[in-house]
Amino acid sequence: MEPRDEAELAGIVADAAAAGRALCIKGGGTRQELGHPVEGASLSLRGVSGITLYEPGALTLVARAGTPLDEIEAALAAEGQRLPFEPMDHRLLFGTDGAPTIGGVVAANVSGPRRVQAGACRDSLIGVRFVDGSGAVLKNGGRVMKNVTGYDLVKLMAGSHGTLGVLTEVSFKLLPAPETAATLRIAGLGDAEAVAAMSAALGSPYDVTGAAHLPAGTGDGPLTLIRLEGFEKSIAYRSAALRDQLGRFGPVEIETDATEVAARWAGLRDARAVSGGAGDIWRISVKPGDGPAARAALGPETVSHFDWGGGLIWARVPEGQDVRAALAGIPGHATLVRASAATKARLGVFQPEAPPLARIAAGLRARFDPRGILNPGRMG
Ligand SMILES: Cc1cc2nc3c(=O)[nH]c(=O)nc-3n(C[C@H](O)[C@H](O)[C@H](O)COP(=O)(O)OP(=O)(O)OC[C@H]3O[C@@H](n4cnc5c(N)ncnc54)[C@H](O)[C@@H]3O)c2cc1C
Repeated sequence: MEPRDEAELAGIVADAAAAGRALCIKGGGTRQELGHPVEGASLSLRGVSGITLYEPGALTLVARAGTPLDEIEAALAAEGQRLPFEPMDHRLLFGTDGAPTIGGVVAANVSGPRRVQAGACRDSLIGVRFVDGSGAVLKNGGRVMKNVTGYDLVKLMAGSHGTLGVLTEVSFKLLPAPETAATLRIAGLGDAEAVAAMSAALGSPYDVTGAAHLPAGTGDGPLTLIRLEGFEKSIAYRSAALRDQLGRFGPVEIETDATEVAARWAGLRDARAVSGGAGDIWRISVKPGDGPAARAALGPETVSHFDWGGGLIWARVPEGQDVRAALAGIPGHATLVRASAATKARLGVFQPEAPPLARIAAGLRARFDPRGILNPGRMG
């Protein structure tokens, strides 16, 4: 099914609810492997597409959920603006093709390396329209940042993987794109030193927008990478000052070629270092200080790298390995991103929730999707 607009979509969902028929919601189909597989009639949002409002002066964009991300990024680039949260492209990791949509980005709260500075997708999201599991159209937030009505519902939809509603329209606050960017590189550090260097950079006054570490065994690792963005003169000053500050960790090189800097961070954003080769892929969130212990606990057969100053670990492990058991005692979240359906069913995709949280989540699902027809089972 491929409705052309929100009204048609609402009719389809209402009919499905009346018949108790499950729906498998699709944007561009590039991230269907996130979460558990869904059995249901395919519902594509491709036809519900187009930028409905773009006010560069107000740093605000509103788009229908099926709008390709490319179309949005091209419109923003033409005005020297961008989405602040640098959404990851999952096509490399899953070997999918097609065009990612903005609805898919919001449904999975997809965010990239800049999350340490600019926040996640949900932090830029200021409004949503969606169809709930009974076919009702709901609207929350708006296009004005100071409008706080329904604030919590906007946040709730980001990362709910289509289990609370079918998004039809999303509104964002934007940021100006920087004039230029630079990557500071330190070669040869061990994990603990790398985390110390990244923490020093993130804690400095130089407004770091990326801090990642490729350990030995990942391409050109060990290599610690710090990104700065802004006006050309400011980048020249800040990169020299930060190079001096990080000098105690070893020689610091500065990469300024725009194409190289962009390719470097796109590779980190898309988890290029772990995406090739067989094995399960996990996304692990921990305290940056626990990063080295977490990576060590994963064992010598694991290929992994750090983002977010050590707080995010992308890891490729031998098939079927229970990473949560290996990480017992280290607080955090481990999400099974890529694995066979059997491994996902056995280990669970998402970090198990504490019982009080699980009760809240179940209550929300019962409220928004009483017949359980929207992406049933996607989140377990
Ligand atoms: C700078 C930084 C510091 C951190 N420090 C710590 C720390 O000290 N201790 C610690 O334990 N963690 C820490 N974390 C990890 C952070 O707490 C986890 O990332 C967070 O708990 C996961 O939720 P999220 O909404 O931020 O991430 P998201 O990326 O939104 O979600 C993570 C995963 O959970 C899934 N998910 C989202 N919403 C739901 C839902 N409603 N139900 C079920 N699954 C859902 C997502 O789909 C995704 O797979 C840190 C993270 C950062 C960025």
